[in-house]
Amino acid sequence: MLKKTNPFLREANLIGGAWVGADSGAVIEVNNPATGEIIGTVPNAGRAETRRAIAAAHAAMPAWAAKTAAERAAIMHRLAGLIRENLDGLAELLTLEQGKSLAEAKGEVLGSAAYVQWFAEEARRVYGDVIPSPWGNRKILVMKEPVGVAACITPWNFPSSMISRKVGAALAAGCSVVVKPADLTPYSGLAWGVLAAEAGVPDGVVNIVTGTAAPIGDEFIDNQLVRKLTFTGSTAVGKMLASRAVANMKRVSMELGGNAPFIVFDDADIDRAAEQAVLSKFRNSGQTCVCTNRFYVQAGVYEEFAAKFAKAVQALKVGNGLEAGVAQGPLINAAAIAKVEAHVADALAKGASVVTGGGRHDLGGTFFTPTVLRDATPDMRIATEETFGPVAPMFRFETEAEAIGLANATDFGLAGYFFTRDLARAFRVAAALKFGQVGINEGLLTTEVAPFGGVKDSGLGREGSKYGLDDYLDIKYVCVGGL
Ligand code: ADP
Repeated sequence: MLKKTNPFLREANLIGGAWVGADSGAVIEVNNPATGEIIGTVPNAGRAETRRAIAAAHAAMPAWAAKTAAERAAIMHRLAGLIRENLDGLAELLTLEQGKSLAEAKGEVLGSAAYVQWFAEEARRVYGDVIPSPWGNRKILVMKEPVGVAACITPWNFPSSMISRKVGAALAAGCSVVVKPADLTPYSGLAWGVLAAEAGVPDGVVNIVTGTAAPIGDEFIDNQLVRKLTFTGSTAVGKMLASRAVANMKRVSMELGGNAPFIVFDDADIDRAAEQAVLSKFRNSGQTCVCTNRFYVQAGVYEEFAAKFAKAVQALKVGNGLEAGVAQGPLINAAAIAKVEAHVADALAKGASVVTGGGRHDLGGTFFTPTVLRDATPDMRIATEETFGPVAPMFRFETEAEAIGLANATDFGLAGYFFTRDLARAFRVAAALKFGQVGINEGLLTTEVAPFGGVKDSGLGREGSKYGLDDYLDIKYVCVGGL
């Protein structure tokens, strides 16, 4: 039924401009996490198919890189337009395979178009340099060149916009790509390929392979035609891939896990803090790497914040993301909900108590009731591990120094948030937090124009913004002598 109604459900891989199956004919089933129903299948491609996709990308790249920036930008602007024109179909597909609410899916698809548009604009601003020469008879020029074929591994939580963030930058720089979308949510990635072709991206410039992750990743790492590996996903897999890719001297960008703190100081606007707390914690049912994992609330406003936050959380409607008014979809799979449950059980066993929620939702499946816990302490798993689900633990603190120490007491460093009305404190705390992105009185920061990325175990490199292009460019020094 679905195939008739959603034109983007593509059950094939894109290699060198052709839509193909796996060599073996093997497929992977894709399910709808809200219902458990199988939506369709995608090819279970392996190393051989990936090798051909890389070869196709390598063959297509010189002509793509030789286009003027304006020519590449024109195609990319068309792609951004097509993504926007097909918003409804793309968002429905995203909700079907991923579970997030339709409103959030539309937001992601529009964000996806925004990244493509941004990088289309930035394509024309890849400037070089002329360095004052220490020699009278030589000029020193600095040029920027595309790094080469980029392999892109994307996650299931943002299956559309993570592709735009990587492939948009790569295309602007003049690179060709091979994309491996997450096997849980491959259709949004394949739809990206459908529209790229329609926009006029030449055959072979964008290739998309689906299948079991390890063999595809192994080919990305071992194949010397791949010059860049960009990955968004878990820290464990990212570290493993990065170390192997760097051993082969490939450029790497890694967007890995987070464990974001959200600090509410006594002098904060508590209404705003509670409202932003909901956005920061419960977007995508808590399944984003910049989602708050830990709430630190100063003693003087602890009860007020807890009451306002819990009230807002209770208003979140849980259900199938396609239904009107639903704000919280299911978690992606059984493993995800098991982890959330384990974090809650561990916290309760160690002295936390439930303010609201606390367990699985009556809808069954992988639906979890949005949860707020109070009296959390640093010995709980939820204090140090990424929960990746709709659970908000509230810790209590007394002083600013204590809050900063607690917030930084993590191996991760992706995003952090804090709420205060004191200007001096705002600058002080922003400087002290060891995170790649800091929100002051804001719980949602992501935009295509700002640099997204982390420090410590949260990764390497930046995506989006003018900095996002650098990760796809090599610097070449050219010395002009005999002048
Ligand atoms: P998560 O825990 O959020 O699913 P993963 O790191 O497992 O995060 O997955 C992120 C992306 O990395 C997905 O596209 C997944 O298929 C891919 N992936 C997982 N393991 C490997 C691997 N060994 N090689 C290459 N890609 C992998």
